[in-house]
Amino acid sequence: MMNIALILDADAPGFHTQASQINQFLQRSQLTATSVELWLFSDEVPQTLPRLGGGVAQIRWASVSRLAEARIAVLEQMWHAFEPRLMLFAGEEGGEWATRLAYRCGGSACCAVEQAQINGAECRVTKAAYGNHLAAELAMTQEPWCLSVARSGAARVETGPSPVAAQRFEPTSIADTKWLLYSASSPQPAESSLSRARYVLAIGEGVGSARQVANVRQLAARIGAEVGASRPVVMNAWCKMDRLLGMSGAIIAPEVCIAAGVSGAPAFAIGIRHSKLIVAINQDPQAAIFAQADVGIVGDMHEVLAALAKAL
Ligand SMILES: Cc1cc2nc3c(=O)[nH]c(=O)nc-3n(C[C@H](O)[C@H](O)[C@H](O)COP(=O)(O)OP(=O)(O)OC[C@H]3O[C@@H](n4cnc5c(N)ncnc54)[C@H](O)[C@@H]3O)c2cc1C
Repeated sequence: MMNIALILDADAPGFHTQASQINQFLQRSQLTATSVELWLFSDEVPQTLPRLGGGVAQIRWASVSRLAEARIAVLEQMWHAFEPRLMLFAGEEGGEWATRLAYRCGGSACCAVEQAQINGAECRVTKAAYGNHLAAELAMTQEPWCLSVARSGAARVETGPSPVAAQRFEPTSIADTKWLLYSASSPQPAESSLSRARYVLAIGEGVGSARQVANVRQLAARIGAEVGASRPVVMNAWCKMDRLLGMSGAIIAPEVCIAAGVSGAPAFAIGIRHSKLIVAINQDPQAAIFAQADVGIVGDMHEVLAALAKAL
């Protein structure tokens, strides 16, 4: 029987975002005929939980200090006790945990995975490589498979009472971390409002100037869209850093994303590709953004946006 463990930190500020990323990963993947367990780090019995796909049949929780060393030691014990073949992580620390746990359990790890498929004794994963210039498909054979899921737009995740009674896991002993003399957690940056926006107007260097950005902002407010930006726009200080879209910024999944004056470089494109509809406006008919768009408009972005605002 294929057994999967979804591992989340219920006390982390990004708990629901991580749950949503795991949900989106499960939807994209082919992991049928599985028994799914949710393993939570939590200080108390979890009462309400995000609804996770895949039909969670078992919830286990453990109260362990936030130190990675202690938690990885506990996960190793849980793996020995319940023997999942696949363990899934999300969030900032997910990649580190997956890699360290795989090493301890003699398995294999892969980080920022978009989707996975299990064929017998092989776990085949897909992930963006070389700054999203390539999609890599990798075959993993050494079990357990420890994966951290790729960042994705923060889709809403329903919450509700725990579907089954959560069982506490009592580790036999907590790892000795006396050698660790000091540890500190850096504050998590607040989640950008972009990641939950329904409509986004993504502007690129083609916008031209800080003054033009101010005009575009007013226009975006009129059409009810949040403004996102490519790297040159934030590097020119035409927009604040929290507006950045792409591999170094926010990953979004709005209903509609209008990408205006952006060339469509892979490092930018990874940020908007989960949008339900992409409308590209660029004056260069050869711009790469058109290959990613559902609707393409060749023309001056300011003229097209002004006409759009008038029409709406
Ligand atoms: C490690 C690394 C990480 C990176 N991370 C990111 C990231 O997270 N996000 C990101 O955005 N970039 C990132 N980059 C940079 C990325 O590779 C591109 O350089 C950047 O996305 C290009 O931005 P742009 O499309 O706005 O600008 P440009 O490439 O200069 O394109 C401007 C476009 O606007 C069009 N245009 C000009 N005037 C008009 C007009 N009036 N009307 C309509 N169209 C017009 C032009 O035809 C052109 O296609 C990263 C790069 C590296 C190496």
